[in-house]
Amino acid sequence: MSKETRLKVYRMYDGHCAYCGKVIEYKDMQIDHIVPKNRGMYSRWDGKQGKFVVTQGEDSLENYMPACRACNFRKRDMTLEQFREEIKRQAVGLLRGAAKFQVKMSIAYGLIVPQFDKEVEFYFEKLKIND
Ligand SMILES: [Zn+2]
Repeated sequence: MSKETRLKVYRMYDGHCAYCGKVIEYKDMQIDHIVPKNRGMYSRWDGKQGKFVVTQGEDSLENYMPACRACNFRKRDMTLEQFREEIKRQAVGLLRGAAKFQVKMSIAYGLIVPQFDKEVEFYFEKLKIND
């Protein structure tokens, strides 16, 4: 990938991870394929049309998203909707995982406020709504 393309991707969301919204250093930015390359036909967000369109995973600026290491690692080859579900699954999974007693006690003391009904919204989606 050219340096110019990489810079364009970095600037898409003003140096933020397109998914969680965390500020990322240029050198730490990973480039995610919205529609995974090894997937067939999946929908992707088309900013110009303002809607999801069906497409195939490809190497193009339209299919790139700036991502932090954590989001890119977790999304792997998932589609957007699978990633959204995975984030939710992770949160609910805390109640059954290795740290379940700490999580439950933290909830009991109000240090963690569970919002499992909350919709998982990506940073780039929030930006569109506020446009
Ligand atoms: Zn992120």
